[in-house]
Amino acid sequence: MFNISLFVAEIEEQLKLWRREFHKFPEASWTEYRTACEVVKNLETMGYEVLWGPSVVSAEARMGLPPQEILEQSWQRALKQGADPKIINTMQGGFTGVLGLFKTCRPGPTVALRFELDALEIAESDAESHYPFREKFSSLNPGIMHACGHDGHLAIGLGVAKILIKLKEHLAGTIKLIFQPAEEGVRGAQSMVEAGVLDDVDYFISGHIGLGVNNIGEIVCGSEGFLDTSKYDVEYIGSSAHAGHNPENGKNALLAAATAIINLHAISRHGQGSSRVNVGTLNSGNGRNLIPSWAKYTLETRGETEEINKYMVEKAKRIIQGAAEMYDVSFNIRKMGSAHGAVSNDQLISLVAKTLDDISDVKKVHLKKQFTASEDVTNMMRLVQDKGGLATYLLFGSEITGGHHQGNFDFDEKVLPIATRVLLETILRIVRLPERGE
Ligand SMILES: [Zn+2]
Repeated sequence: MFNISLFVAEIEEQLKLWRREFHKFPEASWTEYRTACEVVKNLETMGYEVLWGPSVVSAEARMGLPPQEILEQSWQRALKQGADPKIINTMQGGFTGVLGLFKTCRPGPTVALRFELDALEIAESDAESHYPFREKFSSLNPGIMHACGHDGHLAIGLGVAKILIKLKEHLAGTIKLIFQPAEEGVRGAQSMVEAGVLDDVDYFISGHIGLGVNNIGEIVCGSEGFLDTSKYDVEYIGSSAHAGHNPENGKNALLAAATAIINLHAISRHGQGSSRVNVGTLNSGNGRNLIPSWAKYTLETRGETEEINKYMVEKAKRIIQGAAEMYDVSFNIRKMGSAHGAVSNDQLISLVAKTLDDISDVKKVHLKKQFTASEDVTNMMRLVQDKGGLATYLLFGSEITGGHHQGNFDFDEKVLPIATRVLLETILRIVRLPERGE
């Protein structure tokens, strides 16, 4: 017999330390070299078989990779900040995924858990009221911040790893701990899917801190209503001319973009369910007295179903092209990310719910919640489900300061031991061998 709550209590301080260490060294999508290196080192020390780099990240399936010089600069920064060159050599060029494997060598199911490595390109608040700043663990990398709680997810992942492997004698089957790059912008999951990391998975579990679940001890067992989404970067290329002298010789890329953007936001709604479109950034222009020869904008569409999102994408592409023709400019569209809709399986949701009954720190349980955003974990969930496995996505309640993706985002660290325990107890229900006399 063993007591998970005691094991978790023993590592409570460690969970906090991990979280704060990851928070101090945030890295944006596809550049999570130092973060991935820390995960590798920790898992190896615990006794996991660890794979990383191109063996678990398909090169072609990576979306929205930053430019080469950013990848290189970030790699150099990781070295300076203590990453082990032997480990991150094979991650160079944006291969930052990690897989921790624990084979019990007894026949049984394969259970996979997924955690995200990336932070956001957001400057962290330096207000006294911001807890990480006050406690001196705020970001050391200017303009980058863990503003979504993935630092917490990483700590939870390592916590689960540390305790799970101690229980080796009591377990059957295989555990896979997936540490995914580039969740932000829904860019990274597909690369691990296509590398085959999930091909043999029977049970898939992931989750998120916060996201509208605001109380410590409040848990959602399964999410649904993930929106199918596509992300694009669009560029118009016209030609410049003097706005006073010979404007007739210019081809106005800015007006093409402006026309497109107004019309993108005017795409008709869909009768079969909800849809979204947003142009989040627009950059353009060469100077006040010049016809703008270039314009770039970032666009996303979403739909309640794959069909609705497809409809949004088709309409968007027609508008993008039409606006280019109106202003006689050329254009290119680059796909930067995509994720499907997904639902959690009822069977796995009730297994989680049953597990929560025995955990005293869990105060309030919801079986399901609508997600109404997008998360590329759905690409993993869908693959597992298509192959006959079960998947669910939990939410771990915590008071959130500042809101997700804001410079003053923070969560309550009390969620770390609770989420660790919830995940551990759930996995045990799936892979634990019956005790003698039970
Ligand atoms: Zn997130």
